[in-house]
Amino acid sequence: MESHESLKSYKNRLDDALDNRFLREAMDKFAVAYRASRENAFAGMDVADLIQQVADIKAAAIADSKALLDQFIRKAKAHGVHVHLADRAEDANRIIGEIAQKSGSKKIVKSKSMTAEEIHLNRWLENLGLEVTETDLGEWIVQLRKEGPSHMVMPAIHLSRFQVADLFSDVTGRDQDAEIDRLVKVARKELREKFVEADMGITGANYALADTGTIGIATNEGNARLVTTLPKVHVALVGIDKLLPTLADALTVNRILPKNATGQAITSYVTWITGPSECTTTPSGKREMHIVFLDNGRKKIAADPVFSQVLQCVRCGACANVCPVYRMVGGHQMGHIYIGAIGLITTYFFHGMENAKNLVQNCTNCGACKAVCAGGIDLPHLIKEIHARIQDEAGHPLQSLLLGKVLKSRKLFHSLLRTAHLAQKPLLDKKERPYLRHLPMIFSPDHNFRRLPAIADVPFRDRFEKLHQPAKNPGFTIALFSGCVQDFVYPEHLEAAMKGFAQHNINVTFPMGQSCCGLPAVSMGEKSAARDVALQNLDAVYLDGVDYIVTLCASCASHLKHGVPKLLKDYAPEKAAAFADKVIPYSVFMNDIVGIESDVSDGANAGRKTAFHSPCHLCRGLGVHNTPHELIEKSGNQYVPTEEEETCCGFGGSFSTTFPAVSNEILTRKLDDVTESGADLLVTECPGCVLQLRGGAAKQGRKFTVCHLSELLYPRSDP
Ligand code: SF4
Ligand code: SF4
Repeated sequence: MESHESLKSYKNRLDDALDNRFLREAMDKFAVAYRASRENAFAGMDVADLIQQVADIKAAAIADSKALLDQFIRKAKAHGVHVHLADRAEDANRIIGEIAQKSGSKKIVKSKSMTAEEIHLNRWLENLGLEVTETDLGEWIVQLRKEGPSHMVMPAIHLSRFQVADLFSDVTGRDQDAEIDRLVKVARKELREKFVEADMGITGANYALADTGTIGIATNEGNARLVTTLPKVHVALVGIDKLLPTLADALTVNRILPKNATGQAITSYVTWITGPSECTTTPSGKREMHIVFLDNGRKKIAADPVFSQVLQCVRCGACANVCPVYRMVGGHQMGHIYIGAIGLITTYFFHGMENAKNLVQNCTNCGACKAVCAGGIDLPHLIKEIHARIQDEAGHPLQSLLLGKVLKSRKLFHSLLRTAHLAQKPLLDKKERPYLRHLPMIFSPDHNFRRLPAIADVPFRDRFEKLHQPAKNPGFTIALFSGCVQDFVYPEHLEAAMKGFAQHNINVTFPMGQSCCGLPAVSMGEKSAARDVALQNLDAVYLDGVDYIVTLCASCASHLKHGVPKLLKDYAPEKAAAFADKVIPYSVFMNDIVGIESDVSDGANAGRKTAFHSPCHLCRGLGVHNTPHELIEKSGNQYVPTEEEETCCGFGGSFSTTFPAVSNEILTRKLDDVTESGADLLVTECPGCVLQLRGGAAKQGRKFTVCHLSELLYPRSDP
């Protein structure tokens, strides 16, 4: 089914979700509680190593899936299982419908299966006149509401117990208390009757073991055991990506699945089924068992060198649990059938470009999903790849096309910025010079959630020669990579840094041919423009004699270090690797390489409670966590932790202009944390984060000020 929903209509849905107070509070509580439970569940374990083991097992199984499928079929048939192969969703639906009809089944019970959701199996069976009942509590609730799950593991997470009590009152015809224990009892009573009456049970499977022809099903409620053992027919619908060689492989995956999914130490029930079980009511004395293997595009994904890793997904749902956007708008807005980061990607493959085109833009590129992914999938990178692919197939929107064209020519880009500086004059706030007084008409009122900085009178590149002090016997020679925001909007960040470089006898070069790092083009799906820009930067920065390429923008640093080598792997791999190797973020350079000590700030700027907002591209992109805290202490200020220091601020480049309402909610949550910490000052290490946090704090009249780390270390005046 294809939807042709416009971006505007999608944004209206997001607005409705943001207005849903219960949803917001429930998701917020869950996000905080999940983080703590996950940490507890993995205590004492080497999580990164376990993720790598799972990724390796899954990647090898994907590469070998044809042989594993053949082996599974031989073994399962030998046990008396009927095995079917379905190329497409409609084939699987038809096969399962025919099994029901041939076996004379009228009533079907199901345990939760995302694969069945993927092919809209219930709708198909109901159209054949069959009664289908979901038996997982959350899944039953959403079935009764005639909606899809809003989370892969917790399908009804978006609903309150009061909404469920009202629903159960309607279903049973009796008023039901909104007490969770009582509601569970109501469900148990209703569903027990369905189990007893059912002719056929349908499950998915978490694992399909080739060496024994066994399927494994993990559940928390035990309902899959009833679904597979009470009715006389059992059908398992299994994606071919669930094939694994052995039980040992499945047990490795199962060590991570519940911990990553819900922060539970173990799954309550894992059921292993090898062939049909005994059944006293059938002539053969055995239950009829069918396994339907579904392709539905999986073989094509497996053959794709960029996207094959998508099949490493074990459906834990963690990528939704940590996503700042999912947290604000819930799963019905952050996926089509599959939810969260993986949903943004698989929607394109399983449910078509039209259903994916708005979703893929709703990502801040914060990397939180990648950091927890049980399958080790580079989710943010794949989301950008899908975005670029959709734009190549469907046509590039004018806005992104223009940005791509402008970025390709550094001279054009910079002269447009200089022209914009002149054009902004009537919009400047005369009292508060750094901000625009009001936004240009092209912006809708939604964009007014933060104050926007004015373009600087003189860009850094025009100030460099004056600021540059040649070093005698320098300890290091660096190439300073400014990024376009600091060059043209916040040159004062770089000016402050120049003071420190001079103080520590560092020879600074500023390659004038450097341009934007290219990340904005990647974010907008303009991959070819991003590649051109990357090549320009490689040509501009002469590496001979340069010890480091230092940048004060964490996003630039992360993109130059990790994004550029990926973009240029078929164009200039060695040059890109040599370039990336020298890139270092400002904090790490000053603290770990230069080794600055406690004399970096003056008394007037010391003694303040200082919180840090860790840019996503610093903590997750570059693995830098504590270095900025050390620098804050060295500046004579007191570092104060905030609740979610490493959670995104909602900027995300083009994200904040495409989805300003969501961006504002994420920002406000961040500013609330800082207010609660009692900080006088909020420091960060990315000009995009400064723009978002400073503009938001000013707009909301927050009591703390916001500055870049360089301004804290080498202040011009009180920041
Ligand atoms: S990168 Fe961040 S915003 Fe994007 S899907 Fe992953 S967690 Fe969500
Ligand atoms: S993509 Fe990763 S985090 Fe998301 S559901 Fe799959 S395995 Fe879990």
